[in-house]
Amino acid sequence: MQFSKLRLTGFKSFVDPTDLLIRDGLTGVVGPNGCGKSNLLEALRWVMGENRASAMRGGGMEDVIFAGASTRPARNFAEVSLVLDNSDRLAPAGFNDSDSLEIVRRITRDAGSAYKVNTKDVRARDVQMLFADASTGAHSPALVRQGQISELINAKPKARRRILEEAAGISGLYQRRHEAELKLKGAEHNLARVDDVIEQLA
Ligand code: ATP
Repeated sequence: MQFSKLRLTGFKSFVDPTDLLIRDGLTGVVGPNGCGKSNLLEALRWVMGENRASAMRGGGMEDVIFAGASTRPARNFAEVSLVLDNSDRLAPAGFNDSDSLEIVRRITRDAGSAYKVNTKDVRARDVQMLFADASTGAHSPALVRQGQISELINAKPKARRRILEEAAGISGLYQRRHEAELKLKGAEHNLARVDDVIEQLA
């Protein structure tokens, strides 16, 4: 499974639809300061389900929407689409029935984010799990922000362990275990309530 195209529309400085083709081998993005190189990496992180506005260098998630310029009005939505080449059929189960996967995330002012995979509505969690199971995602150590190397060097052992888990592709399993534990707690709570009711009726 490989990234093949990133399309940004109304995302940060990319007001008009812009395609970045990701071919085999190394892709370099060069340009003057402030031209939007980091915005491209953030778009990749965002479409994979990033939910921390701070990771997008914003105060709120709607800050990713084009905010307007002297010659252009602000936009009402931002959309990022990521096309994955799945001809090797390595996508996780549930997403593995076509040679290509298109993941789309759109945020609309006052309406939040919506996700689609191959035009079908999905939840943020489904997209996050898709990438976690493929050993990548919004928090992948393969996406290195400015200043991140020194953060890693100074990180506490627990934070370093999280990075190793993500690299090993087991963070999706941890997430599922956490959700199963929450469900179990809920079931135990319901059982206790049933016991109370039975006691009252006896
Ligand atoms: P450097 O080389 O200095 O790190 P860069 O090429 O990585 O720069 P970015 O940081 O990706 O550049 O882009 C910054 C530009 O994006 C700034 O001009 C900023 O005004 C613009 N920008 C960020 N958010 C928005 C937004 N919501 N609407 C419009 N423009 C935005």
